[in-house]
Amino acid sequence: MSDTFRCFEWESVGDVGLGRPTLGEKMHVAAYRMFHYAHRCVLEKNYGKEAVKRNMVEAGRAVGEEFCQHMLDINLPPADFFRLLNQKMAELGIGILEVEHADFENMIFILTVSEDLDCSGVPATGEAICNYAEGFITGIMQRYTDRQFIVKEINCWSTGDWTCRFHVVAI
Ligand SMILES: [Zn+2]
Repeated sequence: MSDTFRCFEWESVGDVGLGRPTLGEKMHVAAYRMFHYAHRCVLEKNYGKEAVKRNMVEAGRAVGEEFCQHMLDINLPPADFFRLLNQKMAELGIGILEVEHADFENMIFILTVSEDLDCSGVPATGEAICNYAEGFITGIMQRYTDRQFIVKEINCWSTGDWTCRFHVVAI
């Protein structure tokens, strides 16, 4: 895979206004979850759980980088940057982002996402499942800070918690 290989480009979203003049941006969470969980199940059956987790993170990272580039502003100071991120994630119905802890000196953060699009309300399995979100946050943080990050979800609706909580650490 070359450095220039990109899994996702913003143009893939397309011209929704042109293509969906009646329905526009509207889509139910159920429609997203039907796609996501069926897709995930088939991939796990064919490639194994760990491979799917890794690939979800990689896909999320590609999207996070593009999302940061097209929806956010990396020139903003941290408080304004996270405020804009919170606003855009809410607008798109991804979830409600909060910054629980931000340490720019050591590049360690704790972010939470409530009412998460992927997991909030799903049956608890005891296992955190927001691997795509781990990658999404990684991509955003990398694009914003120009550092490499590891992001780990430590609480999730599927682990019986009310919010998804992510440890975000620069490497
Ligand atoms: Zn979660």
